[in-house]
Amino acid sequence: TELSKIRNFSIIAHIDHGKSTLADRLIQRTGGLSDREMSAQVLDNMDIEKERGITIKAQTVRLEWKGHILNLMDTPGHVDFAYEVSRSLAACEGALLVVDAAQGVEAQTLANVYQSIEHDHEIIPVINKIDLPSAEPEKVKNEIEEIIGIDASNAVLASAKSGIGIEEILDAVVERIPAPKGDADAPLKAMLVDSWYDPYLGVVILVRVIDGTIKKGQQIKFMAAGTTHLVDRVGAFTPKIEQLPDLGPGEIGFITAQIKEVAQARVGDTLTDAKRPALEPLPGFKEVQSVVFCGLFPVDANDFEKLRESISKLRLNDASFSFEMETSAALGFGFRCGFLGLLHLEIIQERLMREYDLDLITTAPSVVYQIELTHGGGHIELHNPADMPDPNKIESIAEPWIQAVIYVPDEYLGSVLKLCQDRRGIQKNLTYVGGRAQATYELPLNEVVFDFYDRLKSLSKGYASFDYEQIGYREGDLVKMGILVNEEPVDALSMIVHRSTAEVRGRGMVERLKELIPRHLFKIPIQAAIGGKVIARETISAMRKDVTAKCYGGDATRKRKLLEKQKKGKAKMREYGSVSIPQEAFIAALRMG
Ligand code: GDP
Ligand code: MG
Repeated sequence: TELSKIRNFSIIAHIDHGKSTLADRLIQRTGGLSDREMSAQVLDNMDIEKERGITIKAQTVRLEWKGHILNLMDTPGHVDFAYEVSRSLAACEGALLVVDAAQGVEAQTLANVYQSIEHDHEIIPVINKIDLPSAEPEKVKNEIEEIIGIDASNAVLASAKSGIGIEEILDAVVERIPAPKGDADAPLKAMLVDSWYDPYLGVVILVRVIDGTIKKGQQIKFMAAGTTHLVDRVGAFTPKIEQLPDLGPGEIGFITAQIKEVAQARVGDTLTDAKRPALEPLPGFKEVQSVVFCGLFPVDANDFEKLRESISKLRLNDASFSFEMETSAALGFGFRCGFLGLLHLEIIQERLMREYDLDLITTAPSVVYQIELTHGGGHIELHNPADMPDPNKIESIAEPWIQAVIYVPDEYLGSVLKLCQDRRGIQKNLTYVGGRAQATYELPLNEVVFDFYDRLKSLSKGYASFDYEQIGYREGDLVKMGILVNEEPVDALSMIVHRSTAEVRGRGMVERLKELIPRHLFKIPIQAAIGGKVIARETISAMRKDVTAKCYGGDATRKRKLLEKQKKGKAKMREYGSVSIPQEAFIAALRMG
């Protein structure tokens, strides 16, 4: 395709502002699918994505509109997947900025818009949901101009739901977004935007060609990975799979090349021709790094092999999580896994439970600490609180910090500030825009990985939005807090905490465990301790018989599931010495009240 006839764009939107609905409309209007085929939202193709209403994996669709090829790139909608977002944006020349006419601009939107601006994108504001009675398009236009600082006078007013403004959006893409640039005669240079495992096609790679041409039968080289592969398919999604002879400069499409694992096809890598390679790779390649770690153990020790197989299968399609075997005195054999963030952790954990029908114990999530040992004893990267060295061998510990931007309506600001304060936050900025406050805080990631996001949402009735980026390591007075149940340490519950918040955390943990662990025939002390010093204590009093009543904190479905299992005579409990701890306790105890 001629460069002047190509437009590459993405859609930026806060969750629920209508990105998927609009994408479906654009596909429908341009004739990619019949009405009958449009039944489900096309771009959200995983169950979990649908339920959570977020996009996890970027997908792209090739549309035809008035003699032009429009490549619509969907981007992941969560902070955990920021690097994938940045690569998707780098593959485009423009973006539709979708803002809900009733909700206005939100923090997540901002972070992505700024990235889009950094990539020199032409941004077309789309004010969506104008069919709503509470829509205030003029107010939202002002917000876009004031908060984001781009011209919104020619914003398109739309309703993805009722189909208003769809043709105008397509015309605006053709007229306002610049055509890509590229040199067809130069050596091949293509960016690896995304990769995933497809049961029929194998590993599928989404590419944006910058220079040269990629075709079937070509030997290509992955410049960062250093591997070569033979291209066996080239094509695009319309959104149906359509094979093409080649992809030229400016085009976005997929290739397959008999690649076994997605781990071999890393997002951001540069593909070039093996025989006539480019001199330099494209800028911006980054190794993905796990940020949050936790242990995953089967409740039933006999499920270990099944867990290994299931984790390996998931990993086939998600190179951004890592795992290695781990053994724990209390929990037996399991895996230490690394994730991009808490949401990513929850998604993997949920898929293991749901798709592979595994009962799992998840240990306390932990970030990575940098430890310097005394007397030149060296440096440790600590991924697991259980491996914490003896305190008097530690010279210093540093923890990762983030900078968070929080948007919240004025009325909830007080509680949000208190939450940040309680989590050792340092306020960097506080401004007001309209009826909303924008608070910028530096926070230790350790304080955020537990339940910060849930707390923020609940205390603002869902109105606060939150976005963060890592800003490096800082030393801190950090200690390992252990939990003892009936005098026995439960290593899965140990965590690294700041000394100043240890007591509050410790008290919260023992109070929760008191609710979560069923009574036994004897008294059970529950203690939180730092070294040998107990900092919080509760006691579960003894009880005579009914051990199933009122034991479980979790939600109703879990509770029912548990009761069903008990009926089958297979209670999912872990024995600690003589104490049984229900699996729910391990996760629930970490959610601070
Ligand atoms: P996403 O999270 O940005 O992908 O948002 P979705 O496309 O999933 O939309 C979120 C919700 O808003 C869904 O319930 C949609 O039906 C609804 N929605 C999307 N566009 C419109 C619109 O133009 N008008 C109205 N009233 N609702 C819309
Ligand atoms: Mg969506």
